[in-house]
Amino acid sequence: MARVSFPYDAPVSQTLFDRAALVTPGGVNSPVRAFRAVGGTPRFMVSGQGPYLTDADGREYVDLVCSWGPMILGHAHPEVIAAVQDAVGRGTSFGTPGEGEVALAEEIVARIAPVEQVRLVSSGTEATMSAIRLARGFTGRAKVIKFAGCYHGHVDALLAAAGSGVATFGLPDTPGVTGAQAGETVVLPYNDLEAVRAAFAAHPGEIACVITEASPGNMGVVPPAPGFNQGLKDLCAENGALYISDEVMTGFRTSKAGWFGVDGVAPDLMTFGKVMGGGFPAAAFGGREDVMAHLAPAGPVYQAGTLSGNPVATAAGLAQLRLLDDAAYAKVNAVSSEIQALVTAALTKEGVAHRLQTASNMFSVFFTDQDVRDYEDAKTQESFRFTAFFHSMLSDGVYLPPSAFESWFVSTAHDERAVQRIADALPAAARAAAEATA
Ligand SMILES: *Cc1c(COP(=O)(O)O)cnc(C)c1O
Repeated sequence: MARVSFPYDAPVSQTLFDRAALVTPGGVNSPVRAFRAVGGTPRFMVSGQGPYLTDADGREYVDLVCSWGPMILGHAHPEVIAAVQDAVGRGTSFGTPGEGEVALAEEIVARIAPVEQVRLVSSGTEATMSAIRLARGFTGRAKVIKFAGCYHGHVDALLAAAGSGVATFGLPDTPGVTGAQAGETVVLPYNDLEAVRAAFAAHPGEIACVITEASPGNMGVVPPAPGFNQGLKDLCAENGALYISDEVMTGFRTSKAGWFGVDGVAPDLMTFGKVMGGGFPAAAFGGREDVMAHLAPAGPVYQAGTLSGNPVATAAGLAQLRLLDDAAYAKVNAVSSEIQALVTAALTKEGVAHRLQTASNMFSVFFTDQDVRDYEDAKTQESFRFTAFFHSMLSDGVYLPPSAFESWFVSTAHDERAVQRIADALPAAARAAAEATA
């Protein structure tokens, strides 16, 4: 693995990381946070305000991770915090139905036409796991088609050739997932409709569903080719399978109605998380009423959760969604475009081969001279250049995702001052990328 020298250190973070490593595997509760792909000391953050994070050593960063997407209004947005404080003051969990979860479900159904009914859960993983269980229960079939480089959480059956941390660490497969679980998953190259057609032909009457990221962001940003999502929907319809669009990352981020609001292809089922929780554990799956009617207690497919529809999480999510109007998306899109242009200009100036790929306001940089259409393409990038780029940005106070296989995220709080900090950090980072060696 390429290593760069670290021109600065983070002694308090390092001490915390050493403590963490004694009591938690690898010192983290989610693998990519450990910085293993880029080396160096993961920053332990103590606070966030608007577009900034402050670490345990007192250093401030412009945040281009935004908690991997959820913080689309920036950190500690006053109205979201007020909603949380109000909810917390009335108790934190009742284990009964409550009005907050009804209001959040209504907001989701109102925004996203294909979602006629929705069930709230606590993580994106739970949402995709439950959606494929429902698809299997509804169709009476076992097999699931997924795409290499797409990440749908750490659901056993969906870890095969997954994106995110699985891509970051180049894991071929995961011990602990049985052959029986993996054997029901058909993994195909992304953006390849012919492969999907062939898989349906090879397994007639056996495919319960196709699950895809609405626009993938977990192998870096690799948007669907024109017609790809519509083609998936059509092939599913022809073959009696359900089309599941995983919008855990894109939902309520890429537009008011997520990626559905961009391409208009109506799925049978959809999954949500990240932005809809306002920084709390809230996620959901939903879609066609006749399919959702198969869920317990309306139907026979079991699914449940002690903290599902938690009053604090739903208050945070609802407050955040209500602030996300057309003007908010226009703002996020504009600042994203501005940052994209700065990154492109800096890398071009230094002659660094790269592709900056976008999906609405999500974007990422691949250090390669070819368009990236699938996971195989993504893996051809020169990740060692990202490592050098990442550490230069970090030392100049810009916090990027610590992996070349992740989307970058911005928020409505990224103002001119934050953008200027990014602009100031870019020339040295582009030079570092240009000079990096494998
Ligand atoms: C983040 C993500 C998940 C998993 O969500 P968790 O809340 O981390 O379990 C699933 N699908 C996609 C597309 C994601 O980006």
